[in-house]
Amino acid sequence: SQANYQRPYVVFDPNSVTQIRLHSQHKDRVKFLIDNNHLILYLQPQVNLNQAIVGYEVLARLTDPDSSQVLPPSDFIPIVEKYQWHVLFSRKLLEKVLALLSDWPTGLANVPIAINLSGPELLDDVFFEKVLRYFTENPSLRDSLKLELTETSVLSSHLETKRRLNLLANVGAVIIIDDFGTGHASLSQLIDMSASVLKIDREFVNQIEQSERHRKIVNITLELAKSLAMETIAEGVETPAQAHLLQQMGVRIFQGFLYGKPAPVSYWSSKKSN
Ligand code: C2E
Ligand code: CA
Ligand code: CA
Ligand code: CA
Repeated sequence: SQANYQRPYVVFDPNSVTQIRLHSQHKDRVKFLIDNNHLILYLQPQVNLNQAIVGYEVLARLTDPDSSQVLPPSDFIPIVEKYQWHVLFSRKLLEKVLALLSDWPTGLANVPIAINLSGPELLDDVFFEKVLRYFTENPSLRDSLKLELTETSVLSSHLETKRRLNLLANVGAVIIIDDFGTGHASLSQLIDMSASVLKIDREFVNQIEQSERHRKIVNITLELAKSLAMETIAEGVETPAQAHLLQQMGVRIFQGFLYGKPAPVSYWSSKKSN
């Protein structure tokens, strides 16, 4: 900064002290918000070729009661991970998700919801057993909750995580590989992952018009999914042109700002669908 440039011999950098203080304030804030029930669920719709809603993805937010500011995951997931608050965070999230599932608001499309997992939460016995119980206790509800994990998080995860994912898949849980194409899964690892849906990452959707390489990767991914009898979802669809291209390439389920930004449950349940 300017100040440092003018005083090159200052060892004690006031900027980094401020950074540390800001960081620790932010860290405390995040913890406070999670502890005090300021975690809220945003939903983003997924649509089919007729633009009918066929699913929602749950995207977590923290709301600050003082500023009524809404914090996106990029502001708190890294902190949750750094300080290993997964257990705390995931239990709260699951509580909200199960409450939503058991008391589905009228007006909200009657479709499955998908939650994002980063992997380690499955090692929490309380979390895992709750999810397992959800799937075993009411077989007719199996299709209502899906689990998204990134390619990277599954591959780098603990053996026990993989074992538990397999157990969940065996009782009917739908496992979605998120951000497909951005990790480094090999074919055999992919087949091992007990997933039944591949989610094409926004990065590829973004570039699909301009870049032949990205188009090719999407095509290969779609072929791969087809030959493994997996479903595909394209995320981050922003323009009709992207949707059109994806549709021509064989995509049947779409998610992105073109159809709706993530919004609170109340927004979607008060929106007159159809
Ligand atoms: P993700 O799972 O890949 O989620 C998709 C992200 O893309 C969301 O960002 C969504 O708002 C954004 N998005 C959707 N459509 C569009 C589009 O058309 N254009 C653009 N530019 N962006 C779009 P968000 O909500 O900020 O979430 C970011 C990431 O945070 C998620 O990426 C997910 O990895 C993570 N995350 C969110 N909620 C949770 C959670 O409850 N648990 C865990 N472990 N991770 C979460
Ligand atoms: Ca996701
Ligand atoms: Ca994704
Ligand atoms: Ca992504």
